[in-house]
Amino acid sequence: MKLLILLVTVLAGIWLWKRGRRLAQPKEPPRPSRSREVQPMLSCPVCGVHVPMADAVKGKRNSYCSVAHRRQAEGS
Ligand SMILES: [Zn+2]
Repeated sequence: MKLLILLVTVLAGIWLWKRGRRLAQPKEPPRPSRSREVQPMLSCPVCGVHVPMADAVKGKRNSYCSVAHRRQAEGS
């Protein structure tokens, strides 16, 4: 009978220890979603329209909203 009480105590101790460890684990910080990131914008020097840097047409001196405006400003 003593052995049974000892066994139950040990098992309860292990269970409590495991539960405590699980609760003590740090939470993962929330990762910012990419869609909410602010994209760098630049304005076309010809028409002033703001375009995302990824969509801009790059020229020799500036970046433009379209190839037509790059041609208009730089002649190429
Ligand atoms: Zn433009």
